Amino acid sequence: MIRKIKKEDTEKPKITLKGKSTIYLDKNTPYKEEGYTVEDNCSQNLMDKVKITGTVNTLKVGSYKKTYTVTDESGNQSSVTRTIIVRNKTKADSCVGKGGVIYLTFDDGPNATYTPIILDILKKYNVKATFFVTMAGPDSLIKREYEEGHTVALHTASHNYKTVYSSVDGYFKDLEKVQNRVYNITGVRSTIIRFPGGSSNTVSRNHFNGIMSLLTNEVEKRGFSYHDWNISSGDAGGTTDPRVEFNNVVSRLSKNCSNVVLMHDIKKHTSLAIEDIIKYGLENGYTFEAIMEETEPVHQKVNN
Ligand code: ZN
Repeated sequence: MIRKIKKEDTEKPKITLKGKSTIYLDKNTPYKEEGYTVEDNCSQNLMDKVKITGTVNTLKVGSYKKTYTVTDESGNQSSVTRTIIVRNKTKADSCVGKGGVIYLTFDDGPNATYTPIILDILKKYNVKATFFVTMAGPDSLIKREYEEGHTVALHTASHNYKTVYSSVDGYFKDLEKVQNRVYNITGVRSTIIRFPGGSSNTVSRNHFNGIMSLLTNEVEKRGFSYHDWNISSGDAGGTTDPRVEFNNVVSRLSKNCSNVVLMHDIKKHTSLAIEDIIKYGLENGYTFEAIMEETEPVHQKVNN
């Protein structure tokens, strides 16, 4: 007698999306399916067994979901979802998101002197902001940023162009270091990032040709979202005058787009300019928000 021995397969197949898990699509442009890959320990060729549900109406502005489900021969099921956001095309590339919202973003801190001043002012007006931190400054300030409802996001540990832009591995090692710092203080593994110099920086060309094109794709594949800015306060070199900084910001505010303002909480003049910027925003019908995982990012043009 021949006994058929069948080992029970309880391992789920693994389905992975090709392309981004969130896609922003201009209205009236076709949706292009980028596909998926499937791996399973037992079954071969599950690729044709994937069922895709959900539709995208590219003629109508809105948020759509597609779900990809695969079942192996033993009935183990896995699925992944892709979100497709159809938006109005009339806006420029840097004009995305919710009109009239101001995202104050502070890079390169925390700083023992100026971060507390800025936090006090944010608190006074009950305004939430985003801090793209490095390894600088005391842990207690990162804790305070987090506890007061701000977003603590990642800017790399070293902020050293040679370290972060010489190789993809070098970049992620450095990023992981600051991610761990924030995790150890807040318990949150942040996936919101900003590249030193922004994604459009050309300094990285001195270290690795094409690194920004590689990194902007790779960070999204690894589940991060990167945020540039569409309003520069000029505080990192353009000006040291808080009145000029104030003007740089308020003259560029828009009610049609989200306003992502680049500032640095390591600068004295920023600590002096911030209260007037907040007052102006509140008096002129703007709202302030912290960047969240679901916030549509402003992206600059990659130049390397
Ligand atoms: Zn920076």
